[in-house]
Amino acid sequence: MRVELHRGCGSATETINMKTLKRFVLVGAPASGKGTQSSFLSETYGLKPLSTGALLRAEIAAGSQLGMEAKKYMDAAMFVPDEVVNGIVAKWLGENKDCGCLLDGYPRTVAQAETLDANLTQLGMEVDIVIYLNVALELIQARMLKRKACPKCGETTRNGEETCPKCGAAMIVRTDDNPEAFAKRWKDYESLTQPVIEHYRAQGKVVQIDVVEEGEPEEVSARIAAAVRTYCEK
Ligand code: AMP
Repeated sequence: MRVELHRGCGSATETINMKTLKRFVLVGAPASGKGTQSSFLSETYGLKPLSTGALLRAEIAAGSQLGMEAKKYMDAAMFVPDEVVNGIVAKWLGENKDCGCLLDGYPRTVAQAETLDANLTQLGMEVDIVIYLNVALELIQARMLKRKACPKCGETTRNGEETCPKCGAAMIVRTDDNPEAFAKRWKDYESLTQPVIEHYRAQGKVVQIDVVEEGEPEEVSARIAAAVRTYCEK
């Protein structure tokens, strides 16, 4: 197999066998650790990340029209409509087509996945790898209760931190992190997002990381890196 060094927009710390992986998708349930592993993947492979959830929260914090529209759905623990999110991501992809990139929290429905595939095809690209964080429901429920988010840079923490360890802004408890909202989000995840995983599994692109016991995020990161290496060697 021909092996090429990866060219992202940032500097990669891991370049072995990256062949031509440029478009990463990170999928997992709410509170599965996508934010933390997104930072790891971006730094390790020099990817530019886009978290649709963090972007929407930043729009809400800025009081923009998009933010006000998204807030109605997010406060009700509902998905923001496909056409809104598809538009944001298509614009971002067009602006970042020369970068290795990581989509975190998108696509979340099969309709979004089909739009993403079509948009990438138009740009002469495709999703190269889908990293699926499959975290046990009990762990997710426990994490969600302690989770905080930074409205400025999108960082999330698990230990109730008051200020953002990345940018120093005051951390908030997300309005959608409460047991009722969580139950709704989990149901949507199962019915709408798990089919996205099957969509990409059928394309042979899914790398699944099972997490059944609570541990350090670094252990999960190490397993992801090993799985990416194995995927590249296939
Ligand atoms: P997250 O930070 O990924 O958990 O996203 C927080 C919230 O933002 C979700 O519960 C949705 O309301 C909204 N959201 C984020 N990404 C999407 C998406 N791809 N499709 C629809 N809604 C989204």
